[in-house]
Amino acid sequence: MNMIIPGIHHVTAIAGDAQRNLDFYTGVLGLRLVKLTVNYDAPDTYHLYYGDGQGRPGTILTFFPWPGAPRGRLGTGQATLVSFSVPALSLDYWQQRLSERGIEARGSYQRFGEASIKFADPDGLPLELVANGDSDSQFVWEKSTVPVEFAIRGFSGVTLTEAGYEQTAALLGEVLGFRVQGEAGSRFRFEAGAGGPGTRVDVESVSDEARGRVAVGTVHHVAWRVTDDDAQRFWLEDLDRRGYNVSAVRDRLYFHSIYFHEPGGVLFEIATDPPGFAVDEPSEALGSKLVLPSWYESQRDLIEATLPRLILPLTAENPWRS
Ligand code: ZN
Repeated sequence: MNMIIPGIHHVTAIAGDAQRNLDFYTGVLGLRLVKLTVNYDAPDTYHLYYGDGQGRPGTILTFFPWPGAPRGRLGTGQATLVSFSVPALSLDYWQQRLSERGIEARGSYQRFGEASIKFADPDGLPLELVANGDSDSQFVWEKSTVPVEFAIRGFSGVTLTEAGYEQTAALLGEVLGFRVQGEAGSRFRFEAGAGGPGTRVDVESVSDEARGRVAVGTVHHVAWRVTDDDAQRFWLEDLDRRGYNVSAVRDRLYFHSIYFHEPGGVLFEIATDPPGFAVDEPSEALGSKLVLPSWYESQRDLIEATLPRLILPLTAENPWRS
């Protein structure tokens, strides 16, 4: 059995308005909407999944839109920065693209020898583009509003802000099998699996920051990959034995999930690569309509009437809204 954690599976954050979120991530960042569904725990709200052309694990950023909810607070016990990998030499393109759309980007600056720029999504969620991506564009969505040579390749990593780093570092290094890859000031970089973009987690140790509060514009949880259900069972039992309060396995339809809080307070998930997003609609049609799990299908009329109407994603064929 291969219980190695290869890297990030997905990151889930909270948005305000669903349409604004959809327009930003498809229209500005050029990601593909790979699944339009509801929050399985609150089916009167959406769950939006963005990713690369195929919706591969390691490229998936998802949102629960909470319209009208207050802004959250960035702080300790949170994933405070989501970093995407873009091809080398693409930051000039991105700076111009963002600036043309009135989005202020900071940088570029170097971190661990890689050039990066930082900005925020419309709800204030901090995002970073890191120029460490593959020139290979085979997984880029061909209808993206961003030309393939500049398109986001997937995650580079996430940053966890912690009041102290030791216990989180011990979980990552001694339990989950990540390696320390670098240290710069109060930032410690870990890598999982084969290393490189999509495998990284930085732990930023701060002493004077308030605890974060999860609401609009903050990350809800970070999910790590496992290759199958057996590996997930291994982690469930191992973490349970170590005293973590691990949830039972939940069926998220596109993957199976367990959840627990790391010692600093960030909600972690361990999610299986299979079955993936093509389990309930063909890969060429991913994200083209609202899909519901079978247990909500009988309530479809009511659910559709309750959800705010969404205009479908911006694509290369229709890039002009926003
Ligand atoms: Zn999740």
